[in-house]
Amino acid sequence: MARALGGLFAAGGTLALLSVVLPHNARANELGLLITLGIAYLVAAGLLRWARSAPRWLLPVALAWGTSLITSVAYFSAERPSPLIFFYLWIFLYSSYFFTKAQIALQIAYVAIAYATVLVVRPPPGALAWWAVGMGTLLVTAVLIWTMRERAELLIARLYNAARTDPLTKLLNRRGFRELLDLELERARRSESAMTVLVGDLDHFKAVNDRSGHPGGDAALKRIAHVLESAKRQIDSASRVGGEEFALILPATDQDKAYIAAERLRCAVLEEFADDPVPITISFGIATFRAHGETAASLLRAADDALYEAKESGRNRSVIFNRDNQASAQHGSHNRDVEGERFVAVMLDLAATVDLRFSGSARHSETVGRYAEMMARELGLSEHRIGRVRLGGLLHDIGKVGVPDSILNKPESLSQEDFATIKTHPLLGAQMLEHPCLADVRTWVASHHERPDGRGYPHGLSEPQLELEARILAVADAYEAMTSDRAYRRSIGHEAARAEVRRGAGSQFDAEVVEALLAVLGHQSDPNSVVEHAA
Ligand code: GH3
Ligand code: MG
Ligand code: MG
Repeated sequence: MARALGGLFAAGGTLALLSVVLPHNARANELGLLITLGIAYLVAAGLLRWARSAPRWLLPVALAWGTSLITSVAYFSAERPSPLIFFYLWIFLYSSYFFTKAQIALQIAYVAIAYATVLVVRPPPGALAWWAVGMGTLLVTAVLIWTMRERAELLIARLYNAARTDPLTKLLNRRGFRELLDLELERARRSESAMTVLVGDLDHFKAVNDRSGHPGGDAALKRIAHVLESAKRQIDSASRVGGEEFALILPATDQDKAYIAAERLRCAVLEEFADDPVPITISFGIATFRAHGETAASLLRAADDALYEAKESGRNRSVIFNRDNQASAQHGSHNRDVEGERFVAVMLDLAATVDLRFSGSARHSETVGRYAEMMARELGLSEHRIGRVRLGGLLHDIGKVGVPDSILNKPESLSQEDFATIKTHPLLGAQMLEHPCLADVRTWVASHHERPDGRGYPHGLSEPQLELEARILAVADAYEAMTSDRAYRRSIGHEAARAEVRRGAGSQFDAEVVEALLAVLGHQSDPNSVVEHAA
């Protein structure tokens, strides 16, 4: 449009210039200018039609030529006002809406300078007054356009935002989310970096509505939005993509970091509603760009599948998309060990309950499982082994069910007998996990307190007899214990814990596994904050 109107000025300018060169007959020249404007409109229409192929330099040039039009009109009508000046002003007003501010300013400067130059070269009587009136009008018009445009732009921006914002929570809505996802995917593709999508669905939200009514449910949704907004990192963005479904985009985040982030958000929601009559929890599905999908659609499908799994496995948890699980789920139940799965599910619940007893939350084992998983991945183990070692982490302390609370939560130091009781937990755990489907896991649980130098318990096994998974669990367990608060001591902090683990490499801990842990922690941009969130 701007180009078309620029063309209008251009054509006008050319003919106006011709009329200055032609013999001076004011009336004939004004007629010429009118014809010029007619032709200019035709040119404008043509340019409008092919505007896209018009070159970039055309606009400034056209503006300069257009200036000649108003200058000549002014020149020939110096002794009396010409209606053409007002006609020009009208065109200027209209066209300026499509110009940038710089172009408007340029146009005014052109007119002022060109008009003044003509007057200086051949000044007709009374010209200065007309120059002042013409320029004054032009300036007032420009100011009007400026303000009108600013208001219009504000309005357009508001409408644009409104179309992408959820009115209840003020988060992005589904449309805003999809647009941002496309953008972030493109960025990840170009920069060859990871990117993760979290899809969260509130657990049993119908119950909240049933109990506190729809307005109560809405109030809870607002609180959830607030929690997500404040617990996420600044570069992440949270959206409400459905009634009680939320999604987050985590740029430059791989699946491990994303899991930690999802857990942080999940725990933040858990804490927010802990004292409510109906505590609200959230489940997250996690899918990472490239690893789980290359397009927005495939990533969202993967995140949805993972979310489904989170719901299936008990809700209030985060699950990373896992192709193996998907495959076995799709194969149906005929080749699944249903009884074994049931057994594992019961054991997992029990392990979480035991955890709750001595760490105050079910997070010790979960975090150990997550560290173990990250180390296993760092060590290049197969997906199957990674999954198994994570399970080992979740179950490793189940034997503590046989250790009395009075010992587990004792603030003062333990006696010999207390310590002897504690030392029974690895073997008790292995006994509890007696099932063919846990044959591998139970040996690791039995030996997660053994040491490569042979000074661990219960058997004093040493390096060659210890499976890699058991050595991984030992490091994960120790690191988690050092970095979280207990009844008998506070966390020693991540720096000190890393130093401690490094010091034990080769004696208390397997050196290669320690390297893997340090590498995993090193990947995190801010290991303290990330690990604190996990712990
Ligand atoms: P789960 O996800 O754990 O399987 O159980 P759920 O009860 O949350 O099940 P689902 O996700 O299918 O439930 C959606 C319910 O969320 C239906 C409706 O009662 C509630 N809901 C959806 N949108 C809104 C909303 O905008 N406001 C309120 N107050 N409730 C909503
Ligand atoms: Mg839902
Ligand atoms: Mg739900």
